Amino acid sequence: MSLFSPKRKKLYEGKAKILYEGPEPGTIIQYFKDDAACRGPKHDTISGKGVLNNAISSFLMSKLGEIGVPTHLLKKLNMREQLVAQVDIIPIEVVVRNYAAGSLVKRYGLEKGKALPRAIVEYYLKKDELNNPMVSEEHITAFGVASLPEIDEIYSLAMRINDYLSGMFLGVGLRLADFKLEFGRQFLSEHELRIIVADEISPDHCRLWDMKTNMDFGHDIYREESVDVIARFREVAARLGVFPDLTGNTDSNGDVLSMADAAERASQSAKTKEAGSA
Ligand code: C5P
Repeated sequence: MSLFSPKRKKLYEGKAKILYEGPEPGTIIQYFKDDAACRGPKHDTISGKGVLNNAISSFLMSKLGEIGVPTHLLKKLNMREQLVAQVDIIPIEVVVRNYAAGSLVKRYGLEKGKALPRAIVEYYLKKDELNNPMVSEEHITAFGVASLPEIDEIYSLAMRINDYLSGMFLGVGLRLADFKLEFGRQFLSEHELRIIVADEISPDHCRLWDMKTNMDFGHDIYREESVDVIARFREVAARLGVFPDLTGNTDSNGDVLSMADAAERASQSAKTKEAGSA
């Protein structure tokens, strides 16, 4: 079902998504575009990326919903759209890290790829004009961005999400090195609100490394010049079982093989054929 109509009111257009007014009060339609979210000039638009991010984010959010983590997802509507609950977005980006990478390595001089002794939660103020500066709980509460109980709730939700998603990705051979979350306030009544996960959880906002080969499957792939971004995102979706595996690279149980395993099998079978014909 598409709820697209020329009359539909656009509420906001960002780098990777458009928000439209939803069919009921308190609802919004989130449309996933193909534009690469500010990840450098090498890949501006990636045909099909929005479809995959919509599929992966809907899947991960619905799984989180099943374990009692509240999210804004109400329903995946079609290939590019989700119906979501309207929230008052809390303007901080919440980054959870399990391995040293990216800005953590740059800022503190750590060795890339090292497992952190414990998961770290960081907060960045959503202010593009200031380059999203890192802030502490003190800044967040002093500036009135969120209250102390709200930050406590965000922290404990972020840790719970990290545990769950890390386990889920490990189950499909991927290490969740780090990822970004956003949260919003959902008003249940005039006097009652709760903190829920908003925005998206997708490879665009994660660092994912193959456990065997360390191959990148998250947003770092945009840095590689000749990489087939869609093939990597499709593999993440296929490994999670949310998208048909179009490569046909499955094992005898029907589980999706990683690109590396598929290549190894192909070379083994070529060798066996060669040996047979010799
Ligand atoms: O660049 P940095 O190492 O701080 O990024 C940490 C994590 O947060 C990465 O997984 C990245 O994809 C995500 N992130 C994001 N959007 C931003 C900043 C970081 O999705 N604006």
